[in-house]
Amino acid sequence: MEQFTEPNKINEVVESPSVVENEAKELWARCLALLSTKLSSQTFKSWFEPIKPVSYSSNQLILQVPSNFFHEWIEDQYSSILDEVKNEVLGVDCAIKFKVNSDGFDIITESNVKTEPEIKVQNISPNRDDIKILSKPYKPGLNDKNTFENFVNGESNQLARAAAYAVANNPGGTQFNPLVIYGDVGLGKTHLIQAIGNHALKTGKAKRVIYVTSEIFTLEFVDAIQKDKVNEFSNFYRSMDILIVDDIQFFEGKDKTQDNFFHTFNTLYQLGKQIVLSSDKPPKELKGLNERLISRFQSGLTADIQPPDLEMRVAILKKKSQQYKLEIPQDIIEFIAVNVTSNIRQLEGCLHSLIAISSLKNLPISMEIAKEVVRQVVGEIKTHITIEDIQRIVCQYFDIPENYIRAKNRKQEVVIARQYAMYLCKEITNSSLKTIGLHFGGRDHSTVIHAIQTIEDLVKSDQKYADILQTLRNKIKLVAK
Ligand code: ADP
Ligand code: MG
Repeated sequence: MEQFTEPNKINEVVESPSVVENEAKELWARCLALLSTKLSSQTFKSWFEPIKPVSYSSNQLILQVPSNFFHEWIEDQYSSILDEVKNEVLGVDCAIKFKVNSDGFDIITESNVKTEPEIKVQNISPNRDDIKILSKPYKPGLNDKNTFENFVNGESNQLARAAAYAVANNPGGTQFNPLVIYGDVGLGKTHLIQAIGNHALKTGKAKRVIYVTSEIFTLEFVDAIQKDKVNEFSNFYRSMDILIVDDIQFFEGKDKTQDNFFHTFNTLYQLGKQIVLSSDKPPKELKGLNERLISRFQSGLTADIQPPDLEMRVAILKKKSQQYKLEIPQDIIEFIAVNVTSNIRQLEGCLHSLIAISSLKNLPISMEIAKEVVRQVVGEIKTHITIEDIQRIVCQYFDIPENYIRAKNRKQEVVIARQYAMYLCKEITNSSLKTIGLHFGGRDHSTVIHAIQTIEDLVKSDQKYADILQTLRNKIKLVAK
């Protein structure tokens, strides 16, 4: 990387320091006074206060700016307003020239710095006339389906969602900067961080939003190095109101990219811009990531997303089937929700397969198809449940003491609970009739057969019993997670 660190050369030679300096100070103070009436205080503070007058001679006011980026930005954004002010204060034949802070490093000036001194990243292209800020075509890179409206809220994502919503409504203006969302794959991180961008753009809370994965960021950075366009690259990202970087765990071990990102991060942060990040683990567990970067990531809010609970899985399936304009019976929704527990992407996958298979076979969506699909997605429908698990759950449901189910109790509600439990043991555990009987107080296998037959008959004859059976199945599968 050494060949990229050539420092900037500043050629300005300042003569008669004291005189030209004082005059420059005075003129610039007048310019500032005028500028302050024409600009928002945020803009004025961020972009004009850090400028230092250096000299005034031969109709040239020389100003010092803290970085190349700073220079490019002012030329790009404020050249006409600056021209106006210059004409008024200095006259039309006078010119304003900029020089970059003489050590040539892209550092942040004191007035801008909120925290400790920043890493010094050298400006890579020595010829700043080549640099055209924002020459990379700007596209936010957001999927417009990833909105808050389409996002199901639940206990597992409550904090993350609330923080994301607050940030979307007030980018850069909350305590949640940066906002870091972490969690396992398929739990909605990308959806949520993109929802921030979509919302802020739609409501006009931000004008420039960019979503990028850390992988793309890295690739672009490497490409920029090769093409000698690192400034352009940096300027592009530093011109955003909201920078969203997905899956920052891919920054692990990429030192040079981390440096650049650190600097981009600081610049945006100091300008009061919003940074949103996602990761598959909490920042402090990111290995191969610079300590400085980790501590920056932890300076805002870190919120996790947990796997969805059953209630939420049902809600998600319902919402998605509405979106697809499908009517899926409640028992099928519940069946999928009970069996597909690990992530939301899989839940979606089930719905997609359900639609595909039913349209392929030209059949309505049925439990039969749902079973086929769930088997494809999660493999075998879960069975590692013990007979004792089932006994416990059934007793809880019927509200009877657990030992009754194994004892010689012939009360009607105990008998029916025992029969359900035996039926479910046969259905779920793959145990033999003999084994099941033994677990129920040493009963004979014919008792188990009788129980199974009774439940089958009841379920067929009355929906009420079928519902109880399904509820018990759902409760059991939930334990199997
Ligand atoms: P991650 O980035 O955490 O791997 P994604 O954001 O890509 O996960 O989510 C996977 C899929 O699940 C996406 O299609 C997303 O829209 C959907 N999804 C995730 N969470 C929710 C939610 N809470 N409500 C609705 N859809 C969700
Ligand atoms: Mg993702």
